[in-house]
Amino acid sequence: MTTAPLIDPFHRPITYLRVSVTDRCDFRCSYCMAEHMQFLPKKELLTLEELDRLCSAFVRLGLRKLRVTGGEPLVRRGILTFFQAMSRHLESGALEELTLTTNGSQLGRFAADLAALGVRRVNVSLDTLDAGKFHAITRWGHLAPVLEGIAAAKAAGLKVKINTVALKGFNEDELFRLVDWCGAEGHDLTFIEVMPMGEMGEEIRLDQYWPLTDLRARLAERFTLTDLSESSGGPARYVRLRESGQKIGFITPLTHNFCESCNRVRVTCTGELFMCLGQEDRADLRAALRGAPDDAALIAAIRAAIARKPKGHDFDYTRAHVTGQMSRHMSHTGG
Ligand code: SAM
Ligand code: SF4
Repeated sequence: MTTAPLIDPFHRPITYLRVSVTDRCDFRCSYCMAEHMQFLPKKELLTLEELDRLCSAFVRLGLRKLRVTGGEPLVRRGILTFFQAMSRHLESGALEELTLTTNGSQLGRFAADLAALGVRRVNVSLDTLDAGKFHAITRWGHLAPVLEGIAAAKAAGLKVKINTVALKGFNEDELFRLVDWCGAEGHDLTFIEVMPMGEMGEEIRLDQYWPLTDLRARLAERFTLTDLSESSGGPARYVRLRESGQKIGFITPLTHNFCESCNRVRVTCTGELFMCLGQEDRADLRAALRGAPDDAALIAAIRAAIARKPKGHDFDYTRAHVTGQMSRHMSHTGG
């Protein structure tokens, strides 16, 4: 079985996997989920052992960075077992980074263990510092345990990056409060443009769309912004604020400017491999995992899928209505 690294048809090495370990969540953020969600039956989900086999196959194929996401990854039962399994790839040096994206609600419980298993950084989603607004946007969430979780992560030595979805009429007025708080706490901060994912019923994505070009212009009213050239191979662009020294990121998933350097793929909690966040094409890795105890079919399926990775995505907000709208939710593909 060849373990030559994964290179897609556009000569992009695939070294970054985001894996969703559950579709469930203890929050119901209005831009992400409907309030009443029908979650998948357990048998549809990859077991922790299957997740281990799948991610380990990617590591053999040259994966350097693994991000665990969901749903809310820390509500998956036994999740530390999975982190423990992945930490062996950190120890061997095969994997450079093991990290996660979380809503922070369970970090108070898990931060120290995650740090002990080799996690060095964590992305925490936080759209507001106002307890009332926090409860309104997450529907089921509370701000205090999230702030405690973030503090626990910091105390455990984890580098925290705050991810804030820019929402028109919701957190526009908190721009500087969020920047100042992150500055005082030593957290990096990245703003994300809201994406047209799924049908949210009463929520209309276009109404919530706050372009980051506008957010950036407002930031420039108070700070001197210097563009940083570093790239994560993803949709984030960074600036440095001269006055505070802070690094601020902007994720504009709806622009195409990052597709050329795209180094990533995603796996859902049911083992579907999505080669591009903005395209429907996928590969069923669960069938390959469950079809045979060895990994030959799995690796063949991964290679065949990477050979189909498209050049870019089709989101477009410039029309009167959203085109390229995806029928699946972020909680399905893992944001
Ligand atoms: N539950 C974890 C969390 O909230 O960080 C991980 C999964 S969540 C789907 C990952 C990220 O996707 C979060 O930062 C969330 O804000 C973002 N997200 C969800 N729906 C989105 C949307 N429609 N547009 C942009 N970002 C979205
Ligand atoms: Fe849950 Fe994260 Fe989606 Fe919010 S964004 S509902 S925390 S998965």
